[in-house]
Amino acid sequence: MEFRKNDYVTVTIEDIGSDGEGIGKADGFTLFVKDAVIGDTVEAKIVKNKKNYAYARLERVLKPSPFRVEPGCAYHRQCGGCQLQALSYEEQLRFKQKKIRDNLVRIGGFAPEQVDACMEPIIGMEQPFRYRNKAQYPVGTDRDGGIVTGFYAGRTHTIIPNTDCLLGAGENKEILECILKYMRENHVPAYNEATGEGLLRHILIRKGFASGELMVCLVINDKRGSGLPRRERLIAALRQIPGMTGISVSLNNERTNVIMGREIRTLWGSDTISDTIRVRDMRTPGYPFTGRELTFGISPLSFYQVNPVQTEKLYSLALDYAGLTGRETVWDLYCGIGTISLFMACSAGKVYGVEIIPQAVEDARRNAERNGIKNAEFLAGKAEEILPGLCGEEKPQAGGADVFQDAAGSYHGPLEKPDVIVVDPPRKGCDAVCLDTMLRMAPSRIVYISCDPTTLARDLKLLCEGGYELRRVRGVDQFAMTVHCETAALLERTGQ
Ligand code: SAH
Repeated sequence: MEFRKNDYVTVTIEDIGSDGEGIGKADGFTLFVKDAVIGDTVEAKIVKNKKNYAYARLERVLKPSPFRVEPGCAYHRQCGGCQLQALSYEEQLRFKQKKIRDNLVRIGGFAPEQVDACMEPIIGMEQPFRYRNKAQYPVGTDRDGGIVTGFYAGRTHTIIPNTDCLLGAGENKEILECILKYMRENHVPAYNEATGEGLLRHILIRKGFASGELMVCLVINDKRGSGLPRRERLIAALRQIPGMTGISVSLNNERTNVIMGREIRTLWGSDTISDTIRVRDMRTPGYPFTGRELTFGISPLSFYQVNPVQTEKLYSLALDYAGLTGRETVWDLYCGIGTISLFMACSAGKVYGVEIIPQAVEDARRNAERNGIKNAEFLAGKAEEILPGLCGEEKPQAGGADVFQDAAGSYHGPLEKPDVIVVDPPRKGCDAVCLDTMLRMAPSRIVYISCDPTTLARDLKLLCEGGYELRRVRGVDQFAMTVHCETAALLERTGQ
């Protein structure tokens, strides 16, 4: 049977799609129904149909799923940021566990029995709200010209006013309202994407959960170079907020979707905030603290994991997987501001971190110094370009036999080959050249941290075809209420 546009169908939702939509079958026809929850029986209206499947809009829940919960946020359907908020948290975790497993089987080609034997239960959150340490709010105007901030309604650039996202820190609301008040009182225009006119584009807020420190960065379109008018008034108001540590502006005069500009100017206070991550013992139930901890400086532009509570568990798990005894050389690829590298450095002989963004490399070096860590070295450049140079087979290292010059011009060397490689790439996964070089460097262990189970499965397949075996896999829920899924995996070399 075929459906036509605007047809009404009754369907029972049996699965969750990659964007969190409900998936069900009606007469052998697959339907994707946004906002329907696994276990629901719903009435849906076909909005777009293809040969074997169709997209339908949820009209009515006829029989609610036992996993349905009342979403805490009134905007969750419009916003689309929390695709899973209407699903119970236990069911969200079950969905992610299955997603990792199914990807390893379907894309990775691993035998289901093998995956089941080495996969441990996903680590969830005790309090799955208010976990994000970073928020980026767009600023614009409503129909009446009033200044608003909130979130973009799913796939549009219309701002729905809301200053209190339930995933973010409680302080965000006060900070945003303080900025809106300053704008209204001082006639500071919001940026208009359609015309490229106006001043304030976005507000970035970061919080160090351990330190309580807050940072605000206002992204402005400042072609005239005059900055924020009467900025002392804004600074005076923001400084009153407990924890406020730094206020800055970022200049972004481009007509682009990219939020942050390249240049940051500090208006008041510090240009970084700090946060502390404690090492946990992942082999003991409850994951008690080991007593070791590391403190990092974070600037407006640096990458830093958004969920600090879960990051402790993720990094501690990576450290456990690395199985260090104090002598090993570890290479941490895609190292950002060196967080994982420094975690590893406490238990390794030597650690090298590789990162594409030079400022992040500088942050990483400062973070090493801050923690008194002397056995970590950071190289600027693309992992896939730096690694092949190290094998020393195809091209001589720049700057002499034992010396390697990185993309930022710093000299390193002689560099030691890895016993353990840790990778934590962006969603697109590792570059093929990078994977190939990892195989040639032949470390005994590879720890792969991934924020996308599909590219993880693809890359693990390749590494396992090249002489490694999957030993352990575990999800860590870094992104509760959303479909995003973080995984750690351990591979061991089997010889060859
Ligand atoms: N491990 C860090 C950062 C992970 S995010 C942490 O946990 O905080 C991934 C990082 O990879 C980003 O900092 C990004 O700038 C960097 N990156 C992206 N492509 C890269 C490449 N080709 N080579 C090296 N680093 C890269």
